[in-house]
Amino acid sequence: MFPLCSFLVWLIAKRRLRTAHFWHHKGLWASSACAFCLGAEETTDHLFFQCNFTKQLWAQLGQLLRFKFLCTMWEDMEQLYSLCAGAKGATRITNAAIIMLYYIWLERGKRRTGSAVSSVGSIVVRVFGLLKAVGSKWTNGFYLGQASKL
Ligand SMILES: [Zn+2]
Repeated sequence: MFPLCSFLVWLIAKRRLRTAHFWHHKGLWASSACAFCLGAEETTDHLFFQCNFTKQLWAQLGQLLRFKFLCTMWEDMEQLYSLCAGAKGATRITNAAIIMLYYIWLERGKRRTGSAVSSVGSIVVRVFGLLKAVGSKWTNGFYLGQASKL
């Protein structure tokens, strides 16, 4: 797994990611609004799982993989790992989830810096492309289930 991905997953699991909620409560940002919807507070769970924009990403990725990602908070990711563990195709699902988390964070950064934004469809295509590229080389999907304990 890319070191950046595993570090990001660890930060999410430990609730240490610097979202707008964090910077706003430190007094450094005027707003805590989500970079995607601008309507809700940008907490980790909102940004990755509860925002309407990210819900669309998970739904489209799920359609491609024929899998329903029913995640509304980080703990659901850990459960996803537990449910998948040992099942056929589990590595693909957990890798897809890790790659999606990474692309959500990338897209959030693009929007924060005013770069061109990507559509739901184009992000999902990139996630799927990277998923195909890594194939089964990434066998450490278990990271999803372990990150909060590390
Ligand atoms: Zn949002």
